[in-house]
Amino acid sequence: MQRALVVSTLVLLTAGHASAYKLLGAPWDPNRGPVPYVMHPDGSDDISDGSDLQAIRNAMDRWTCMEDAALRSREYPVELNDQGEPTGFNIWWDETGQEMMGPSTLGVGGGDGGSGVARRSGFIIFNGLDHTWTSDIGANPSMVDVESIAVHEGGHMLGLGHSCTDDQETDCLPADQSVMNPTYPGGNAQELKQDDIDGFLAMYEKTDPADNSTCDGPYRHGEICACNDDCIEGLSCVAQLDDTQICSPGGCDSDNIDACGPGFNCVLSAKPDDETPAPGTCIKGVSGQAAPPGTACGSSEFICGNLDCTRSGTADADVCFKGCQVDDDCDHGYVCAGILCLLDPDRLSIECPSGDGDGDGDGDGDGDADMGDGCGCTAQDTNQGALAFAAFPLLWAVVRRRRR
Ligand SMILES: [Zn+2]
Repeated sequence: MQRALVVSTLVLLTAGHASAYKLLGAPWDPNRGPVPYVMHPDGSDDISDGSDLQAIRNAMDRWTCMEDAALRSREYPVELNDQGEPTGFNIWWDETGQEMMGPSTLGVGGGDGGSGVARRSGFIIFNGLDHTWTSDIGANPSMVDVESIAVHEGGHMLGLGHSCTDDQETDCLPADQSVMNPTYPGGNAQELKQDDIDGFLAMYEKTDPADNSTCDGPYRHGEICACNDDCIEGLSCVAQLDDTQICSPGGCDSDNIDACGPGFNCVLSAKPDDETPAPGTCIKGVSGQAAPPGTACGSSEFICGNLDCTRSGTADADVCFKGCQVDDDCDHGYVCAGILCLLDPDRLSIECPSGDGDGDGDGDGDGDADMGDGCGCTAQDTNQGALAFAAFPLLWAVVRRRRR
């Protein structure tokens, strides 16, 4: 009996199709934008030169820059509260034991979503109390390698479970065949293995043949861009309310408020005349935050937060209604249109002229190099937008135990 088991295992492995990866919870929807992450700026108290944070960035890129994958990740800067303390981060070291991980646990990772709802937030917590961390495992082989654990917990955050065939996790791929093995073998375990890649692509393999995106561009939904040419086909480079420009489904109007697709709000400007629908632009939604004023809310009133979803004649649609008398009553990016704040029409996405009428050879026909209309593309805007995680539910967490 034992002999038979060994033989069948060998057959599976040599056939190259032995897959043990497991999906855990709900996957992200790549079309909603990149997976957002915000790191606590302190990182690990064992490391002071910032290399711990860089190791986490490298770990995220190992997954979300994978060839043939559609899911990306994007780091957002941490915000400070009124007391000057970091807030809104979703990756941090627990140095005090408040998360009660216990000494056998190196870290936890996970996210929300499930029951048909795509994941919208995730988290990674490292155990800083019971372990000593390094970002130079070659020089410190007895310590715990940040990037190795970040790759594993990042796998959980992105939707993978442990690479075991049984729930009791007695039959798992060895650590040299999967970073999603439940135990850390020590040393450098940073590199994704075939089973990890197979699991990730099972969730996020590109489905659109026109999607030629890479981490270095062209870019997908919600990624920073300088001009339309930076985005994959079907997306435009659109100014957001925080003045960043991201690849977005582009335009919408009061007759077509669903044009933006999931993850983006159709924010309207004033109707130009009686016959023409109110033009709008697709502004990326922020997980945990209400849609901004002027968002068409016809089919889902709850999206407006503490604003009312009210019929507006000026926008010819039900919108998240913020009243005003003058422009200064409205947020940045808005004008006071009659009695309510609507998107400044100057911020609407602009279709670049086709052809190259201006002879500068860039094919956009407008000859200007500024980034205001998304048609000239000479500089990369590296400005990072701000994103707050008002709350991210810890619906489940997966523990990685240290081998003893
Ligand atoms: Zn784990």
